[in-house]
Amino acid sequence: MAHLFDSRPPRSALVDIARDFHARGWMSGTSGNLSARADGEHFWISASGKPKGGMQESDFLLIRIVDGAVIERLTPQDRPSAETCVHRIIYALFPDAGACLHGHSVEACLAADHAELRSESLNLPPLEMLKGLGIWEQDPQVRLPLFENSLDVEQIAEAIRRRFSEAVPAVSALMVRAHGATVWGQSLQEAYDRFEVLDFILSYLARTDRCR
Ligand SMILES: [Zn+2]
Repeated sequence: MAHLFDSRPPRSALVDIARDFHARGWMSGTSGNLSARADGEHFWISASGKPKGGMQESDFLLIRIVDGAVIERLTPQDRPSAETCVHRIIYALFPDAGACLHGHSVEACLAADHAELRSESLNLPPLEMLKGLGIWEQDPQVRLPLFENSLDVEQIAEAIRRRFSEAVPAVSALMVRAHGATVWGQSLQEAYDRFEVLDFILSYLARTDRCR
């Protein structure tokens, strides 16, 4: 099957994914952030404060994973996304992560309300669609890592680093309560597909009272 996004330069593909996420209501206004690994030590990420419906290739900055330094930017005043620290943690912890996508959706926020306050996971319903997240089990019981939101994004990133350093999550995704989901994959196409599948599952969960 043709991999729509993987046969193209990452910034070109990221522009299309931004338009798609915006059209679906997953990156309203300037919210959300998208990144793709450039090599073993760097990744491209969306600049802060750009309307997601009109992103251009020049709206992405090259970041060094180890310290977050900006290595390349076409517009001098551009700053990397405020949530760059979360992407850095994902690339640093998971060397095979090739892309990381973060959006804000109504359904994801509603679904997260099924979990108790301060719960560290959200139980996902045993839907066929879980196969799209790499779960091939009969009647699977999958927990989506859940983090409490904070105005201090570094605090969220540190909580993610601490928890994922101890145990690799069953799915390459996480949810920040009242905020949104982050999904990563080996390639942009895989991350995109998984974000779409997770949104289906969270949309289902948001509309049902059934919880496990
Ligand atoms: Zn966010």
